[in-house]
Formats: sequence, C-alpha cells, structure tokens
Amino acid sequence: MRNYNTAKTYFETVLSKFPTEKCEINLNLNQIEITATYEDENYIGFDGKSTSTEGGCKHCGQAISMIKDYKTTCTTISKYNSKNILLRLTKTMYYCPDCQRSTTEKLLDVTGNQQKTNGFITNMISCLKETTSYSMIARMHKVSTSNLIRHFDKVELRETQVNPRNVRNLSVDEVRFIKLENANYQFVLMDGDSRKIIAILETRQQSFVKEHISGMFGRLETISQDLWSPYRSIARSCYPGAKVIADPFHVVRQFMWAFSRTRIALAKEQGVKTNKHWRLLTKRYSKLDERGREKVMILLEANPELMAAHTAKELALEMYSCKDKALYIELLEIFKNYIDENNLDEFQIAYKSAINWHDEILNMIESEYSNGAIERVNRVIKQSKNIAFGFLNLARATKLIQFRMN
Ligand SMILES: [Zn+2]
Repeated sequence: MRNYNTAKTYFETVLSKFPTEKCEINLNLNQIEITATYEDENYIGFDGKSTSTEGGCKHCGQAISMIKDYKTTCTTISKYNSKNILLRLTKTMYYCPDCQRSTTEKLLDVTGNQQKTNGFITNMISCLKETTSYSMIARMHKVSTSNLIRHFDKVELRETQVNPRNVRNLSVDEVRFIKLENANYQFVLMDGDSRKIIAILETRQQSFVKEHISGMFGRLETISQDLWSPYRSIARSCYPGAKVIADPFHVVRQFMWAFSRTRIALAKEQGVKTNKHWRLLTKRYSKLDERGREKVMILLEANPELMAAHTAKELALEMYSCKDKALYIELLEIFKNYIDENNLDEFQIAYKSAINWHDEILNMIESEYSNGAIERVNRVIKQSKNIAFGFLNLARATKLIQFRMN
C-alpha cells in the first residue's frame, strides 16, 4: 500500500482507471450486485451495491426498511495469487423510527472499522506459521509491517495456549531468546505430555522464576530439568510433591565433556593427534562399522591414556543407557573404580556431578520424560531469528514461537 494510506484512496485514484471486462474471477456474495470490475498488476477491484430491502436495527433488533442514506466502504476481502481483491461497496443505511437512530447494514464479515475482512486477516496471520519474516508476509499481503504486527497482537490463539492447571509433567530449561538488559537467557516451561510451550519467562533468575511458577500449576508429578541446581531448589520449594528428573542429554554431556577435556590435555602434553577421528572416538564403539572400529583401535592402542579415557566414556554411555536402577548403581561403582585406578581426573568432575544429582538421575532412569522437546524450541528460535522486529518484545515473540510450535 506504501504510497496510498488506504485501500479506498488507491481504488479511487489508481485502480478505477483500469476497468476490465475479462477478469479471471467472479465475486458471488450474498445480497451484493457487482456493477464493475477493475484490474491492475497488484489489485483486482469490484464495485458492488447492496440489493437488500431491509435490515436489522442494531439498537433494538427489529427489522427496518426505511432508507436513510447510502454509505460506501472499501474492503480488502481476500488474495488471489499475488493480487489483493478489493470491494468498493455501497451499503444501505436504514432508519429505525422507534429508536430514531440509523444502522448501516453489515454485508461482509468485518470487525469494527477494519478495512479487511476477518477471513483475509486470518489468512495473513496463518502465513506467520511458516518461518518467514513479518516484513515478507506484510509485503505479500500489501499491508505495512506494523499493521500485520498489530493484527497478530490482537488475535487470540487459543489453541496454542496451555492451561497450566492441567499440566502434570513439566519440562524446564533456559533458552537464548532475546537479549534483555538484565538477562541473556530466558526460562522456558513446557508441558512434557503435549510438548507445548506453556510460557517463556524473561529471565532464569531464581527469585523471578520462583515467584512466577509458585501457584501456577496444580498437581505436578514430575519436573525434568538440566543439572542447574537453582532450578532444583525452585522445584523442591514450589512443588515438593513432584519428582525431579535429570535430563539425560545434560547428564551424558558431563561425561562427553570429560572425555573431550582429556583429549585436549593429551594433545597439548603429548601431541596426540585425534582431530581427524574425533567423531569416531565420541560415538559409541558398538555403533561403529568395522572400518570405524579399526581406526579407533589404531588410535587407542597408540596411547594408553587415550584408551583409558575412551573406556571410561564407553562405561558412562552404557551406564546411562540402562533402564534399571540397581544395575545403574552397580555400573556407577565399576565406573568409579575404573577412573580411580586410571587417574582420570576429568572424569572425577563428571562423577561428582552424577553423585550430586543421584536421586534425579535415578528418577531419570525409570522415566519417560526428558527435555528433548525443548531442544526443538531452540531450533525454532534460531530459524526465526530473521523476525527481528518481534524479538524486541518477549510477549509477542513467545506468542509467535507458540504459534509455530504448539
Ligand atoms: Zn431500533
């Protein structure tokens, strides 16, 4: 619309100069007679007039047929390929003798003073589901970006909202969403069963999170989280009845980091070159093909310390793929003995954290819940980075992410 502030001025000053006899589409609307058609490279326009003979008084509701006046409006009613379809419509204004007030008939599905039908707005909003920018969708629909955003802010997306009272299994994690003055990370709450985002809080700061989530949920059975102890204290104090579950990805990562740090130390101290085959080394040995195993064995046999670290990593992976608490405890002891005997200091750090989170890890071993779905949130956020406009506003950005994911 750029140079014309309303569809009406565009219609009157430009489009009306291009009448056409052979338009590709016909407009069939109830009680509207089409009297002329126009078309240019961006718009298709119709002139229409009402054929009604009576209307309803908006004040008292009775049928009224006394005509007081006519009123012309110009409304964007839909899109056809790349063109917007405009309807310049002459409506009848009826007069109610009882109320002594007039009512203009409503022939299109339009809310308030909008110059677009609700159908057009709904279609435009639904385009935001795809990962494209606000400006791109605004351009496609020939509206301004701020107009599109205003419509998005107004629309209620009830189906993407989650009622926290119904949530039984909660997943929490931080995400890097928008950079605020007081926070680099936001706090995501997700329903572990429907995998829908419940809310995104502006910071993961303990007191802030605590204040927001206490009383938010009804009866929570589990809360899954990474190994960040402030979350555990929040969970324990706000929902003492809920089982806290450690997220498997974050648990295993401690051990992968230990392996990685050992490798880096070996490279520095002894010049052990592993870069080229690092991915083979981190993969579970049993999942490698024959060639992979051969390569790994050559590397490990050349360096006993790398061999020990690799064995510790394999033990850890086995330990966290087991689904039995008693077996886990047994494996953990074997692991501890192994790293003691082989002086694997880096793995002692990971072991300490496994002990620190022992109860939550035991819960994890027998649970179906994890934070896996939250990883998807991070992905969608990354893909959505080009909608920079919306990212200045957390509420709007959250709504958009919920719209795209829930
Ligand atoms: Zn009336």
